[in-house]
Amino acid sequence: MALRVLVIGGGLMGAAAAWRLSVRGHHVTVLERFGPGHDRGSSHGTSRIFRLAYAEPSYTELALRALPLWRRLEEESGQSVLTLTGAVDHGLPRAVDRLADVLAKAGRSARRLSPGEVADRWPGLRADTAALYHPDAGRVHADDAVSALLKAAGRRGAEVRHGVRVTGIRHTGATGRIGRAGHTEGQVTVVTDADEALSADAVVVAVGGWAPGLLPAVVTGLPPMRVTQEQPVHFPVPDALDWPSFVHHPGAGWDVPGGLYGLGSVDGVKIGLHGVGPVVDPDRRDRTPDPAAVDRLRAYAQEWLPGVAGVEPVPLTCLYTTTPDGDFVIDRQGPVTVLAGCSGHGFKFGPAIGDLAADLVEGRPGAPRFALGRVPPAR
Ligand SMILES: Cc1cc2nc3c(=O)[nH]c(=O)nc-3n(C[C@H](O)[C@H](O)[C@H](O)COP(=O)(O)OP(=O)(O)OC[C@H]3O[C@@H](n4cnc5c(N)ncnc54)[C@H](O)[C@@H]3O)c2cc1C
Repeated sequence: MALRVLVIGGGLMGAAAAWRLSVRGHHVTVLERFGPGHDRGSSHGTSRIFRLAYAEPSYTELALRALPLWRRLEEESGQSVLTLTGAVDHGLPRAVDRLADVLAKAGRSARRLSPGEVADRWPGLRADTAALYHPDAGRVHADDAVSALLKAAGRRGAEVRHGVRVTGIRHTGATGRIGRAGHTEGQVTVVTDADEALSADAVVVAVGGWAPGLLPAVVTGLPPMRVTQEQPVHFPVPDALDWPSFVHHPGAGWDVPGGLYGLGSVDGVKIGLHGVGPVVDPDRRDRTPDPAAVDRLRAYAQEWLPGVAGVEPVPLTCLYTTTPDGDFVIDRQGPVTVLAGCSGHGFKFGPAIGDLAADLVEGRPGAPRFALGRVPPAR
């Protein structure tokens, strides 16, 4: 049965949910508070890493589910979004071995490279330990991916409304009354900043860093989430698009918790430290770049990235919404499906997460790893 579904948030997660729900024939309306392509949340910019290599096999499975869906999205939207360049992991041998093990068990190809082989193949990169290369990795163009998802959803009938902020969500229960649009009034009512009350059978809440503000009034068991302002930089070099994506795992003489990631993009070679930014209120954050954070990345590049030597980095800011265990929240309570806590690594899985959201809306169970209530409340 086709359901009426409101999707709150038009970033990556909301857009992906809208597409997958529309593919399944549901009547979808997306409500996004800002304009198309805005840069106040987590999904803007020109690049995100796509990779299969994860220490936790269920994420490798999720990336494998996402890969053909990214390709299907490209066919439907006519927009190229995913470019496979391969990925290089280096640093702490234990971490790299674990990735090799997970990829081997998933039957995916991967190859060990010596530091010399890394330098021969990508002279811009330096490794001082054995590295792991896997080819099923690369970059997703973030802005193009979000617009392709919304476009593909729109072509299948979804309505996408920008500039609409949701101020409240109410469980209303099925009333059997006939609403203004001629439908039976649904299970849930969403109120907007223009005092509009929209009724639907289900709502998907995908509001990124705004989740801790909006969701506790609507669902229980939401894990605590740290909303931080992260600050990667781009080094604009002419050969940026030839670079692989890469992760430098901390340990073995190089130590920044969370590690460092990088990849090529149309804006240059992007690098960032994972999850080190200050806690912020997404409505009141200072989006001016922190010079100390830029210095740290410049110093890293001097030591480890000969290919960007002497190039001045250009900073940008973006939000992480991080759960205590780093796992996402993809779960449903009554008519409310929650997509939250993407913990700085959710983009690559976008269409697969959209598919999981559609499963939940249709009443299929979610995975315990992503459940609401999995983190015991603080005493
Ligand atoms: C610097 C950085 C680098 C990253 N690198 C990678 C990477 O390489 N690979 C990877 O896989 N992932 C990466 N990520 C993570 C990935 O980008 C995020 O997981 C993903 O974009 C989260 O999308 P979202 O839809 O949850 O959040 P958002 O993009 O923030 O979307 C939430 C949307 O909800 C809207 N909204 C909020 N409140 C309301 C309301 N009340 N009413 C209506 N609309 C509302 C917001 O305006 C926003 O558009 C990175 C993230 C950052 C910040």
